[in-house]
Amino acid sequence: MIIFKRAKEITQYIDNHILNKNSIGFVPTMGALHNGHISLLMQSKKANDCSIVSIFVNPTQFNNLEDFAKYPNTVLADIEKLEEAECDILFLPSVAEMYPNGTSNLQHYDINNLDNILEGEYRPGHYQGVCNVMHQFLKYIPTNNLYMGAKDYQQCMVVRQLILNENIPTKLHVCPTLREDSGLAMSSRNIRLTENGKADAAIIYKCLQHIQQNQQDNFATIKVTCEQWLLQKGFTLEYIMLAHATNLQVLNNYNTAQPMVVLFAAWLDGVRLIDNMVIN
Ligand code: AMP
Repeated sequence: MIIFKRAKEITQYIDNHILNKNSIGFVPTMGALHNGHISLLMQSKKANDCSIVSIFVNPTQFNNLEDFAKYPNTVLADIEKLEEAECDILFLPSVAEMYPNGTSNLQHYDINNLDNILEGEYRPGHYQGVCNVMHQFLKYIPTNNLYMGAKDYQQCMVVRQLILNENIPTKLHVCPTLREDSGLAMSSRNIRLTENGKADAAIIYKCLQHIQQNQQDNFATIKVTCEQWLLQKGFTLEYIMLAHATNLQVLNNYNTAQPMVVLFAAWLDGVRLIDNMVIN
């Protein structure tokens, strides 16, 4: 695996060795890699001649300084995992490399209000930060195929809109969420949960399944049951929302004639956890 820290070097390498001859797959991450990340790399390796993973904890997408400061950093173990998975290239840029003009006065992206609803409402500025970093990545790495996880459902929709708006010639592949045996979605943030917390967090998946399996009932009633389960486990809930799966318009009740997704965010042990499930 080749490791690049400089944008100029990775772009030059792609220009000299890869572009026009081979297809490139790109998996952007913030590190603290787990099997969910590796599953994206595997999807890329299946379909491309060269697979690139990036590790960059993007400061502009954190609306909470403490969350940024506490974000896990396990870069040496990450490199080992990527070597083992036969990743071709790791891009490991600094903040200065990703933001050569600094992190203030950044471009604003019009992404159809996707940045202001649901996750965006609870994390103001988050998706603008995601757009900034992804736009820069896709300038440095002209990838044919981009692999992202359905775990971050709204993020995938934001990046799809960014690609469309900016006419970027890359295809976004949304890959399924990898879960622990308990049903807990794999996440870098799970490292910060206590052992008890990890066991308790399995209730998230049970709630999502309960919501999926009871579509004949009223969503508000089902939601109250889930809220009680979560409260008993010590969660502080931000939201459990039902939305149209393709435009994220919030739905007050089930509408089985439409594709629906249930989206979840809550805190446990001081750790913010998100999850979702497409329910029909
Ligand atoms: P992150 O490092 O959390 O920013 O995630 C990097 C990429 O991995 C994003 O596209 C995530 O959606 C994806 N990802 C995170 N967790 C999982 C998971 N459990 N299964 C599949 N993909 C995931």
